[in-house]
Amino acid sequence: MARKIAAGNWKMNGLKADLAEIDSLAAAIADIESRPEVLICPPFTLLPLMHERAAGTGIAVGGQDCHPEPSGAHTGDIAAEMLADAGASHVILGHSERRSDHAEDDALVAAKARAAWRAELVAIICVGESEAERDAGRTLEVIGRQLAGSVPQGARPENTVIAYEPVWAIGTGRTPTTAEIAEVHAFMRERLVAAHGAAAADIPLLYGGSVKPGNAAEIFAVADVDGGLVGGASLRAADFVPIVAALAAS
Ligand code: PEP
Repeated sequence: MARKIAAGNWKMNGLKADLAEIDSLAAAIADIESRPEVLICPPFTLLPLMHERAAGTGIAVGGQDCHPEPSGAHTGDIAAEMLADAGASHVILGHSERRSDHAEDDALVAAKARAAWRAELVAIICVGESEAERDAGRTLEVIGRQLAGSVPQGARPENTVIAYEPVWAIGTGRTPTTAEIAEVHAFMRERLVAAHGAAAADIPLLYGGSVKPGNAAEIFAVADVDGGLVGGASLRAADFVPIVAALAAS
């Protein structure tokens, strides 16, 4: 069985005043039975502060991207080692917003995943089809290609998490049907085992894309969904807590 993970992606949102959300989150989830892993990925500026604020709560913090190299002349970039130094245990890689805004391709995402492992971070590797690709019936082909290109050899449950995030569902309030999510997750499980061996069956598979308090329970009940990567609804503890609770109860 893969472990369950509720991961929040704050994207380019959050100032120091918003760190109070971590206090509210920690207090509210403290009593949740069978609590899943809870992770927040704030902007780089808040990472060390959030790490300190979350100390002793069991809430992990992660980055939203890293550079493949450990150091060097790369203005504006952040190395995986710097994330680890700031208190991160995870890093989101290959998010569709990085793939589109920064032209990141599968080979670059794979290089970043190797960098994450080098720094002993868990790589949360994102894959997902566009609306045009889904409409053309190419979803599994696209996901298969992204998994093959973005997930390096050496992936195992301890160092890798995969997030299926249909591009058209991110921030739109639209989600695939539960049958569509189940189809993709079963396919990912099978492809990961074929490429990385039997142990890869326990690599956690997260669904992401408009997960909200109102749909979380239904999504987490889907076979092969081990948790969620949550954008907008992770910014406020009032929204994220019921999502964590729904995952715990699934
Ligand atoms: C995301 O960006 O990872 C995401 C899933 O966003 P949202 O939950 O806002 O759709």
